[in-house]
Amino acid sequence: MAEFDVVTPPVKAAGGKPGTTTGKALSVVGLRKTYGDVVAVDEASMEIAAGEFVTFLGASGSGKTTTLMMIAGFCEPDSGTITVGGRDVTRLAPQKRGLGFVFQQYLLFPHMTVGENVAFPLTLRGVPKHEIRRRVGETLEIAGLSGFGGRRPRELSGGQQQRVALCRALVYRPPVILMDEPLGALDKKLRDQLQVEIKAIQQELGLTVIYVTHDQEEALVLSDRIAVMRNGLIEQFDTPRELFERPKTPFVADFLGAANFLHGRVERHTDAHTLVRLDTTGSLLTARRHDLATGAVVKVAVQPGRLHAGAPSDGFCQGTVETATYVGTIVRAGVRVDGGDAPLLRLEVPAGRGPVGGERVGITVDPDDVNLYPAEQDG
Ligand code: ADP
Ligand code: MG
Repeated sequence: MAEFDVVTPPVKAAGGKPGTTTGKALSVVGLRKTYGDVVAVDEASMEIAAGEFVTFLGASGSGKTTTLMMIAGFCEPDSGTITVGGRDVTRLAPQKRGLGFVFQQYLLFPHMTVGENVAFPLTLRGVPKHEIRRRVGETLEIAGLSGFGGRRPRELSGGQQQRVALCRALVYRPPVILMDEPLGALDKKLRDQLQVEIKAIQQELGLTVIYVTHDQEEALVLSDRIAVMRNGLIEQFDTPRELFERPKTPFVADFLGAANFLHGRVERHTDAHTLVRLDTTGSLLTARRHDLATGAVVKVAVQPGRLHAGAPSDGFCQGTVETATYVGTIVRAGVRVDGGDAPLLRLEVPAGRGPVGGERVGITVDPDDVNLYPAEQDG
């Protein structure tokens, strides 16, 4: 992989090239934006390290784009500060922040060739012609577009056009690249392929990326850390593993893993565990130790992939397999639990070992995979 020289660094971080610095690449403190009565973003704060791939994940309207646009400088915050490479950029124009952008719509200049499109940020910065040619060539090669430099955007497929847009953001090696649903307009197969490519390029070049998506799987595939956004708030900012295994709220448990929820009351604690008396079955479920008072009414969350179907005599509850659907390497099963209002538990088990419809099973779970929340916590 060829190294890029930084010809006109937008931000000269102490002792290093943009994009290759260590430490904080970007920090956001108390960022807030309202539109009339709508709080689009509410006191967002986060620190992003150089070389990190961070994703804003949330449903439509949760404030992802507004947060990104404030960082980019296209949207003025009501309050809060944005720092890039240690420099306060909150009041700076977008082009003075030294950030790269890739949006869902490719926004390529139709009258320019691919090469000219990619060269554009360098041309703007007055980089010498021979240097532009070299760096455009290298960048197109990284994105698998060598030989396409002379074409017009309309002569390329959607995926190729989005790669060109990516090249244009990469070519001057900004310390941080912002991407807002860049693959949103592409079909699933192409999206999967470009996700892998974007991740590979990011890792190879050590880029700092802030990426926006509403697609959980995409976020999990790409990110070092994910900020789960909801109603303008960052609900949890963590690694994919932490979000999946230790969701801080029922909302996160449901949003990332489509958790099963059960209701009960804390019966007692041991050193390592919290025992919950379940409402429907009256049985005891052992959970990882949680800081909840004895007697507290709780909500229990368990991911479908963490429940196991065993012998009918086993487990914290028993039931009958109502549905068993083969989906590739796993079987999705629905188990109607014996008892009061008979909840349906969703299980995901490896195909081949899966239960079959009508079978009687006992449900087991590792206590470490059981998350508890106060009953009043929403989500
Ligand atoms: P997302 O990107 O997560 O879909 P947005 O950041 O676009 O969400 O929007 C967050 C909230 O702010 C939404 O309720 C949206 O309707 C509102 N909003 C965004 N931009 C504007 C605007 N220019 N004028 C008024 N309301 C806006
Ligand atoms: Mg958006």
